[in-house]
Amino acid sequence: MARLGERDAGGMSVYIRSLAQGLGKQGVQVDVFSRRHDSTDPFIVDMGKGARLIHVEAGPPEAQKTEIAEYLPTFIENVKSFVAEESTEYDLVHSHYWLSGPVGIDLAETWSKPHVATFHTLAEVKRQARSGVEDPIERSEIERIVVAETDAIVVSDSHEREFLARLYGASPQKVAVVPGGVDVNLFHPRSKDEARTKLGLNGDKVILCVGRFDPLKGVDLTLASAALLEDREHVKVVLVGGDLEKDPEAQRLSDLADALGMSDRVRFEGAVPQDDLPWYYSAADLLMVPSYYESFGLVALEAMACGTPVVASRVGGLPSLVKDGETGYLVPWHCPEPFAERLEVLLAHDDLRNNMGQAAYHQAQGMAWEAVVQRFETLYQDLISREVAPKEAV
Ligand code: UDP
Repeated sequence: MARLGERDAGGMSVYIRSLAQGLGKQGVQVDVFSRRHDSTDPFIVDMGKGARLIHVEAGPPEAQKTEIAEYLPTFIENVKSFVAEESTEYDLVHSHYWLSGPVGIDLAETWSKPHVATFHTLAEVKRQARSGVEDPIERSEIERIVVAETDAIVVSDSHEREFLARLYGASPQKVAVVPGGVDVNLFHPRSKDEARTKLGLNGDKVILCVGRFDPLKGVDLTLASAALLEDREHVKVVLVGGDLEKDPEAQRLSDLADALGMSDRVRFEGAVPQDDLPWYYSAADLLMVPSYYESFGLVALEAMACGTPVVASRVGGLPSLVKDGETGYLVPWHCPEPFAERLEVLLAHDDLRNNMGQAAYHQAQGMAWEAVVQRFETLYQDLISREVAPKEAV
């Protein structure tokens, strides 16, 4: 429910919200507990039928992500008090991200219920993708404990199951692969002309990037590859996401655009509400996702659902979304030249772009959230019907 595309609010927030709302619609009552990170947040937010977001006090609202671990015991205590006061009985606990893993373990143990964990990203995988990523040292250790203690782990793509087995010793039987989904009611093609007029993008070829401003997203590669294009004077690079005043990455990218002589070719939009994003995807000739690592890549799927081809790095879950040569291109190297070559081909051939856009649209139709929610219901049901052995607290 936070402003997506700013700070840490991105794919995981969309995922949890979509899953909670989807389950709620199916008649499953869902409470999502999250740390209060803004003093103006209401205590309880109604997310639609059957789904609530409950803001739990745990440390000062402005605490940074790197400081949150120390407030986990308070978080756990406050969740327990709330639940005791309401006399709610949950059937299952699903924790998201490494910080919530120990919370899930404690609550599931206290209530003798099954615990499912989804990491969304893993410290070891991030470290391998790009050295210099700053994660607290205890993160990998906590992830290992969560892997050992949970009843099931959900990943979005089979490559993560392999990582979990190889780097964390997870038994493959414990890991379920459930790909993420897209809201096809929101993300569908709009008229390109109308979209371009609306966004003031007429007359140029448009390369789009959407996401949080995180160096792991490799947006610098988009700028550097666009700068290599022969016809760069007729290209606009539109960057959606980021807090343009506070994200250090915004300044870095703006300096890079200057250094490449691309300042007049790049538009920094800042974070855009999701409801407006279909206009951006529809206006674009292509979406570029040059990430160093991407566990799934919701933006690629959203662009595809809007009929826009995607040029992406061949990393993480992206190859299961983007079919090389069919719905876009996958680039195995993290350097501008091979990306520029693919951009050149795609931007120069209208028919190719249209065909790939169509193929992308059709592929995305099979990945609507409703189907994802059903798979979760089946998984949850299966775990609930198993006898849960009493667990040791961590
Ligand atoms: N998003 C948004 N507005 C923005 C930037 C991003 O609504 O300005 C949303 C986008 O629609 C997508 C999510 O944030 O659903 C980003 O998810 P993705 O999996 O691509 O990246 P992550 O944040 O998980 O790294």
